[in-house]
Amino acid sequence: MKLFYDFHIHSCLSPCGDEDSTPNNIVNMALLKGLNAIALSDHNTGKNCPAAMAVGKKNGLVVLPAMELTTCEDIHILCLFEKYEDLQKLENHIQDTRLKIRNRPEVFGRQLIMNENDEVTGEEETLLIVSSGVSVDEAAALVKGFGGIPVPAHIDKQANGIVGILGAFDYGLGFDIVECAGDAGVNLPKITDSDAHYLWDISEAEHFIEAETCSAHGVFEALKKLAGGGKA
Ligand SMILES: [Zn+2]
Ligand SMILES: [Zn+2]
Repeated sequence: MKLFYDFHIHSCLSPCGDEDSTPNNIVNMALLKGLNAIALSDHNTGKNCPAAMAVGKKNGLVVLPAMELTTCEDIHILCLFEKYEDLQKLENHIQDTRLKIRNRPEVFGRQLIMNENDEVTGEEETLLIVSSGVSVDEAAALVKGFGGIPVPAHIDKQANGIVGILGAFDYGLGFDIVECAGDAGVNLPKITDSDAHYLWDISEAEHFIEAETCSAHGVFEALKKLAGGGKA
């Protein structure tokens, strides 16, 4: 079946994400747009994923747990998972390597952790958008080791894109799939996402993936198949 997706959406936990981008608002907007599957991908954390996944489950939207990892070169890597426990392992790993700079909410924005009722249950105090200690050389193997799919994010953009920062796409880094809007001249399967920081920027039902079932497992298997060049 065709499942319309947007696998790169920020919530109010990202300092640059709008405070209206709560778990419920994101799920409801995705449903209004006609999407079947999304991933919640905040900068260097997955702490709002459990709430978004629970709201998705109640409302018939697949929500994959994810994060947008910042490498030490300031390259953004979208890390998609099927299970939140696996994403947590990645978060625990990078937690210790991330620079601990105190967030200044008045400058960067608040970093709100919410439950499935959109109630604030915590606030991340260290700034999430700083680089982790993970280098782009080790990122793909690290994410795959935890059971995730690493996807160099917005590779057609200069800022924080792998091509803009390294000067060219290095096929030896172990990535099997990329994220871009147009043709970035990279010979790998691609996905196209919104990178929405505001609710209204979430994708329309435009890009789809062929999956066996409309479930987190079905979508994740479809992504693995796509990343494997069509091989199961
Ligand atoms: Zn990014
Ligand atoms: Zn992003």
